[in-house]
Parts: sequence; C-alpha cells; structure tokens
Amino acid sequence: MATTGKVIKCKAAVAWEPKKLLTIEEIEVAPPQAHEVRLKVVATGVCHSDYYVLYEDIRDYAFPCVLGHEGAGIVESVGPGVTRFKPGDKVIPLFASQCGECLLCLSDKTNQCVKNWTLADKDMKSKSRFTCKGKVIIQFMGTSTFSEYTVVSEVALAKIPDSAPLEKVCLLGCGISTGYGAAINSAKVQPGSTCAVFGLGAVGLAAVMGCQAAGASRIIAVDINKDKSSKAKEFGATDFVNPKDYKKPIQEVLMEMTDGGVDFSLECAGNVDVMRSALESTRRAWGVSVIVGWVAVKDVSTKPVDLICGRTWKGSSFGGWKSVQSVPKLVSDYMDKKIKVDEFITHTLPLEKVNEAFDLMITGKSIRTVLKM
Ligand code: NAD
Ligand code: ZN
Ligand code: ZN
Repeated sequence: MATTGKVIKCKAAVAWEPKKLLTIEEIEVAPPQAHEVRLKVVATGVCHSDYYVLYEDIRDYAFPCVLGHEGAGIVESVGPGVTRFKPGDKVIPLFASQCGECLLCLSDKTNQCVKNWTLADKDMKSKSRFTCKGKVIIQFMGTSTFSEYTVVSEVALAKIPDSAPLEKVCLLGCGISTGYGAAINSAKVQPGSTCAVFGLGAVGLAAVMGCQAAGASRIIAVDINKDKSSKAKEFGATDFVNPKDYKKPIQEVLMEMTDGGVDFSLECAGNVDVMRSALESTRRAWGVSVIVGWVAVKDVSTKPVDLICGRTWKGSSFGGWKSVQSVPKLVSDYMDKKIKVDEFITHTLPLEKVNEAFDLMITGKSIRTVLKM
C-alpha cells in the first residue's frame, strides 16, 4: 500500500480532558512497530465504558486520549514479525488480549492475559502511536477506534471472515460478546433456571439473549427506564420490572416474585447499589450473581451472611471469552443467525457526531449507536 511505512494523517475524536466534549482533530498515526498492526477503522460502536472514562471515572489517568473499543476495520499494514495478518484482512480490535502463551492464556480458568491493556497503566504513553498538535495521545484500551486509523498489538486482534459486515459485527468487539458471554460462560446459566438481568443497555440485552440461549425458563429484566420493556421482551425476557414502581427495595420484590430468589442474576448497569441488589435477589442457598457493569473507583458491599449461606458473587470481563479465538466464532454465529446483532443497533451516525451518541446512550434513547468513519 502507498501508506505502508509512512505516518498517516487522519481524523479522530480526541478526549483532551475529563468531562469535556470530544473534539474532531487531525492526528498522526505512526507505522506499526514489531508485532503491531495498523488498521483502517470502518465502524465503531459507542459503549458505556467509553462514557465512564470520560465522565464518571474520577481518576483522570488516561488523558489526552482517543476512546473507542468496539470497532471493526481492515488491515492497512503490519509491523515486523506479524505473520497472522496481512493488508486487506477484515479484523476486530480487542481490548482483551489473548497472547496464547502466558500463564493465564494457558489456563482454561480465565480469559485474562498478562498482555491485557488494563495492566499497561504505567507505560500508556510509550505504547501510543498517536500524536496530535505535538502531544502524545493515549490509545485508550489499546484500541482507540474513534479514529479513522489505529495501531494495535497483534495479540489484541481477531481476524474475521471477508463476508462479515463491519458496520454490524463491530458490536462483537465489546457489548454483545460481554453480556452474552457473562450469562453463558461466567454465570453458567442452566436450563430451566430463573434469571434476573439488571440494566438493559446493549450489555444487559445481550445477557438476556445469553440466558435465553442457555435455556432459562424465566428471565426477569430490570431497568429504571420503562421504555426498555418491549426491547427486553424482544430479546427473550419473560418479565419486566421497573424499580421505580415499588416502594420496597427491588431485591425484596424479586424475592417475592420468585418465592425465594432467582438462580442467577447479572448486573449490567454499572452501579454498586444495583450490584448489591442483584446479589441479594438471588436464592440464598445457591444463587450466583455476576458483576458486569464497569466501576473502578467505588467499593461494593453486602452483609457477609448473605454470602455465607451459599450465594456466589463473581465478575465477568469481556463475557469470559478468550478473545482472539472466540470473536471469529461469535461473528460466524451471527452470520449463521444464531445470535442477534442488528437488533442492538438503533442509531447510525458519522464519527463527528460522537458526542451526540453519548447523549443518546445516557438519556436512554439508544441501545447502540454505530459510528461510521
Ligand atoms: P447503557 O448505558 O447502554 O445501559 C445501562 C442500562 O442500565 C440503561 O438501560 C439504564 O437505564 C440502566 N440502569 C441505570 N441505573 C439503573 C438502576 N438503578 N437499576 C436498573 N437499571 C439501571 O450501558 P452498556 O453499554 O449496556 O454497559 C452497561 C455496563 O457494562 C456499563 O457499566 C459498562 O461500562 C459495562 N461494561 C462492562 C464490560 C465488561 O467487560 N465487564 C464490557 C462492556 C461494558
Ligand atoms: Zn465496552
Ligand atoms: Zn496471554
């Protein structure tokens, strides 16, 4: 390609500082270094975790940066030592790496990998291939898909079939895979069980879809936005409960509805009080509650006795999927009509309207907005 080995100048949405609107800038994207791949981003979803870092995380640890971690694109060039990818390949960048060689990758107990971006906090700037106006711009989550071009590590990239529609399957880079896998892999929902899913954004609706795929016989969808009821039922929920309709705590409501608690609950709202409600909605003797919502700066609590009698409280990152090997399979499952993707997309906008996409999400008007480059 004409651009191979050269710096590419392109458009990106830059987050200069917390709690400020993203601005569209021309950035410079350096060529990929050893074991890195540069790709042209074709489409990207907007996930609540992007919003969290910009508006809700109080640590101010990753600025200036380019957000975005739910993208899909086409390989432009590869760095030295890259053998699994070539220019023209369709790919999904991954915020969860799978190097295939570390202690964690070699274990079937986890989908964590020692090369995960989240462990790279200390050298975020040295790993970045982005500059803008003379400043290094951090590549958030190692993906930075709110940019026309990005550079990623080869261990954080999945090759997908040439026939996959990038403006749809980008959502398998985070939200859908996360919620679906949290039900199947992390909660390990059993056939005939009763489940509750708290928070019905893309992640929660995908969890509902996972509970249904696992054979749950009752799926109670919980959200403070009444407009989410019909969508939840479309994805397989049997009941919808709005905590605002009750004076008593929502865990008591669910306990009564299920004669002692649900078998499995999934928290997909990103709120520590909801995490507690989700745990305490499960049956004391064997309930399993999975935290999916992303909170990095607050504590979560419950009374020890609520665990002592037999409940299990656990978390799930990227739905427990080992990323590089699983994402291509999830893309195939979508193309074989085994999982929904199109139904999550309520809005499509150009990159320039990324701030509008955040507004649509936070006011509950969208499920997922896909930004097209
Ligand atoms: P979203 O903003 O689209 O959806 C959140 C939903 O929660 C909304 O429908 C909202 O009305 C609902 N909600 C808010 N407060 C509630 C309450 N008190 N009770 C019940 N429902 C409530 O977000 P999303 O993109 O679907 O992401 C959901 C969460 O998952 C976020 O916290 C996000 O950061 C997190 N996430 C985690 C992972 C992971 O790997 N663990 C990956 C992706 C996203
Ligand atoms: Zn996400
Ligand atoms: Zn690894």
